[in-house]
Amino acid sequence: MSHTLSKIQTLVMEVAKEKGFGTKPEEVNVGEKIALIHSEVSEAYEAYRHKNMDGEDGFREELGDVVQRILHLAGIFGIDLEAEIVRKIEENKGREWKWGGMNEGHVS
Ligand SMILES: [Mg+2]
Repeated sequence: MSHTLSKIQTLVMEVAKEKGFGTKPEEVNVGEKIALIHSEVSEAYEAYRHKNMDGEDGFREELGDVVQRILHLAGIFGIDLEAEIVRKIEENKGREWKWGGMNEGHVS
């Protein structure tokens, strides 16, 4: 299986360096970076609520912003997020979900 997330993370870190967004823990406020991830998630929710799926500041764009911000934070700490995601998917394959009614479901 080929992955491209690592390449995207490299690009995100290149832009972060160029724009001065920080590339090392001592160069950023980590709490602020986490808050900014939250803000992008909220923007995605707002876009969805307003049925703006594909327009400017739309759902599609905001989800991309979420991933970019997460890739940036991971990159700041030298975390290969692609490897972490693949590792967790493999771990979850052997996991049994025992949350009963709390399990992720679908709203009909
Ligand atoms: Mg945004």
